[in-house]
This record gives sequence, structure tokens and C-alpha cells, in this order.
Amino acid sequence: MADTQASYAELVKLKREQATLGSVSALVGWDQETYMPAGGADFRAEQSAVLAKLVHERATSPRVGELLDACAQDRALGDASPPTGASLREMRRDYDLATKLPGDLVAELAQTGSLAQEAWKHAREGNDFQAFRPWLEKMVELARRKAQCYGTPEGGEAYDALLNEYEPDARASEIAGVFEPLRERLSAFIAEVRDNGTPPDTKVLGTKISEGAQHAFGIRVLDAIGCDLNAGRLDTTTHPFCSGMAPGDTRLTTRYREQHFSDALYSTMHEGGHGLYEQGLPKGGELFGTPLAESVSLGIHESQSRLWENFVGRSSQFWTWAMPIAKDLFGGALGGVSVEHMTAAVNTATPSLIRVESDEATYNLHVMLRFTLERAMMRGELEVADLPGEWNRLMQEMLGVEVPDDARGCLQDVHWSFGLMGYFPTYALGNLYAAQIWETIRERIPTLDAQIERGSFGELLGFLREHIHAHGRRYSAGELCERITGKPLEAEPLMRHLASRVKPAYGMA
Ligand code: ZN
Repeated sequence: MADTQASYAELVKLKREQATLGSVSALVGWDQETYMPAGGADFRAEQSAVLAKLVHERATSPRVGELLDACAQDRALGDASPPTGASLREMRRDYDLATKLPGDLVAELAQTGSLAQEAWKHAREGNDFQAFRPWLEKMVELARRKAQCYGTPEGGEAYDALLNEYEPDARASEIAGVFEPLRERLSAFIAEVRDNGTPPDTKVLGTKISEGAQHAFGIRVLDAIGCDLNAGRLDTTTHPFCSGMAPGDTRLTTRYREQHFSDALYSTMHEGGHGLYEQGLPKGGELFGTPLAESVSLGIHESQSRLWENFVGRSSQFWTWAMPIAKDLFGGALGGVSVEHMTAAVNTATPSLIRVESDEATYNLHVMLRFTLERAMMRGELEVADLPGEWNRLMQEMLGVEVPDDARGCLQDVHWSFGLMGYFPTYALGNLYAAQIWETIRERIPTLDAQIERGSFGELLGFLREHIHAHGRRYSAGELCERITGKPLEAEPLMRHLASRVKPAYGMA
């Protein structure tokens, strides 16, 4: 089947060109957030638009469709060599996602989304849900049309079609099957901590540390956990992010607040975890541009960031290693602080109103609330007009928190205003995958605690490289989880993890 081999080779070449254009687009995007002078903004918008158009043309090119069809004729190409089969399967998925939406719907989503985002900004500032309501109604309607174009998977629901963009093959019903027990147990756990625990003293986190010292500490940690800063860099932005833009080039950003050094530390470790995944993907050789060099899903990507930020970074073992370094770099600012004190301070479980400011334990409840509401809106079981009331009721039920106004309630997130539905659950999926994988790692590396206390992270990173990063998109997120842990995703590991961290911090051990 020499012909199909040639077709596959042409596909790989086209995909590499598309990915190369995408990497240039990512580079100008990174520059816009970091060093671009304000005067460059207008032309930058034009540059970005031209590049986005070129990438989209490549992704939807009829030639790609022809080549995929030609390859599909050759069963041997799909079956004989599993990586090639997986590569073709995922290229087909990308092509279908890119071509199933009609151009006028894409344009309407972009245009209405941009206007709705403006409306949301004003509505949030003025705490005026009624001003945003018609825009959200339009965006929900557009999301429904989008789901219709993608098509509901067999036995599934419209929401699954949206979810599929971020978490391929995930089903809302399966996610609900994990979220529901987690939600009940987590709500009960947080109430138990509130009623029976003594909150740790967190004043230490407000110690004034200069930006330069925080930056030096962040770099030291990134270097220790294995981020290759010769193949990446760390800069400052308002909203931290990671862009694994090209082979040998992964950009991380963080932010510094003088009176909250743990914010920068954990943002840096979070983005560092994303960066380690990007650096571990096999982009170096011929594979760049193919699905075998790309990340599996947002949930798995987030599992990598959360693993380093929370499972490593908030452990007493981490602070055993990091505390002397912090004390040294911070010029004695943390003088009398013990490892136990610091560990307790970074493991709180305090219900609050705002998702992005919430702690590790309560964060997942914020996400599950949004999943419940957006799924109900997509199903037509919840009218947009009833959203604020339902939001406030669930906040009370799940977190025991009274919502004083919509600005701090259902208007707090930007996501829905530009039609991003089906995205929120990936945040909690990341925590769940991280917890389940972490338990397996602790079994497989019995000396892990001692290694972390020494600042030795190589065996841990090696495990992630071998079992997750190296595979690209060869396995789905669910398959990856089962291959590593022997089980489908479940709620128990995350509950065990949170109890093991929060109870000691609240004197409940
Ligand atoms: Zn993240």
C-alpha cells in the first residue's frame, strides 16, 4: 500500500506546517501579554487575525479530508502500527471538529460572544444581571446550535458535544457519576472542618517579600522540579499562563504580589506543571504537528499542573526542602516560621464566594456548581432568568455561603459570556486525575517522601514522562487513567488527599 503511505506522509507534512503557523500565532500572543508596547495593539490584532485565518484554512483544507479518506481505505495503516492508527484517529477528530461548524455560525459565535463579553463586563461592574440576561440567552442558544452541528454522541446529550472540544470522549453522565459523590462528601467534610477544626494561622502568607526575591525563589523551584529553562522562560503577566508553543520553547508566566508570596509560588508551580507536560511531549523529532506530540485533554493538562502545585507544593515534605531556601532568599523574612506552620497555612478549607480565590479543598465545589448549572441550561431545565436564584441556592447548599449580590455570584466568571460551556468540569477533572495518579505514584515510588524532602524530583518526573507525557494523544484521558491506576476515575482518592492535608492543618488529625 505504497499510495496510502504516501498519503500519510503528506498528511504529516501538512500538519507540521499547520502546527508551525500555530506556533507563530502563539508567539505573537505571548508577546502581546508580556512585552508588546501599547502602541502595537492595533496592528497586533491584525497580525493575530491573519495567522488565525491561515491556521483555520489549513485545519479545514479539503486536501486534509481527501488524505484522511485515502488513509482510511488502508486498514493496515490504521491497525498495524498503533501510533499511526492513533494519529489518524485523532487527525480525523480534529478535522471533523474544525469542519462541522458552518462559517456563519462561527462568525456569529465570535461576534455575539465579543459583544456579550463587553455586556458582561459592564453588568458585573454594575451588579446588574438583567443587563446581561439577554446576552447570556443568546449565547446559550448559540451553544445549543453548536452542539447540534457537532452532533450528540449515541446515548449521550447535547452537552457532551461541547465537552468533547476540551475533554475528548467524556460524557456528562459519567462526570456527574464522579462529581455527585464527591460533592456530597466534600460539602460534609467542609462543614465538619468548619464546626470541629481550629483554622490555621495564615498571617505568615502576608509577609512582605520583594518581587525580585519571589522571582529568584520561583526560578529555584522550577529548576529543581525539572523545568528546562534553556528551553523555556518565566515572565510576568496579569493572568499567569503556559504556552508550549514550539519544540524547545515553552513559555511560562506568573504574577507577584509583595504581600502574598504564596500566590506567586503556587502560580509558578502550577504553570511549571503545565510546562513540564509540554516539555515532555515528543515534539522534538518528526512528530511535531501530529497528535502524538500533543496533549490529551484539558483535564489531563490540568492534572499535571495541580500535581506539582498542590500534591507536591503544599506537602510538608516540599516545605522541609524549600523552607531553608526561602529563608535564605527572603533575607530572614520567614525567620521563626516552622515547616509545620507553613504547611498548615497553605492547606485551608474555608468556603468563600469567588472561585479563583478559593482554596484547594473548596475549589472543586465551585466548579461542580457551574457544571450543574450549565448542563441544566443546555438541557433546557434551567432558564437563564432563574440562574441567579439557582446559583445562590446551590452556594448555600454546597458551601454554606450566602451570596450578597450577583457580581460576586453568577456574574463572576467571564467564560459563559463568550459561549465557553463544557469547559468548567475540566478544572475539577484535573484535580481528580491528579489525586488518583498521585496515589499510584506513591505506591510505585515508596521513597517519594524522602526524595521530596531532599529536593529530588527526578523519579517523580520520570514517572509522569513515561506514563503520560510520552504518549501524546495516543490514549484518551480515561484510558490513560486506567492504564496508570488500574481503575476508572473515582472520587475517593481526592477525598483521601484533602483529608490528609486539611485535618492536620485544623488540628483534627
Ligand atoms: Zn492550569
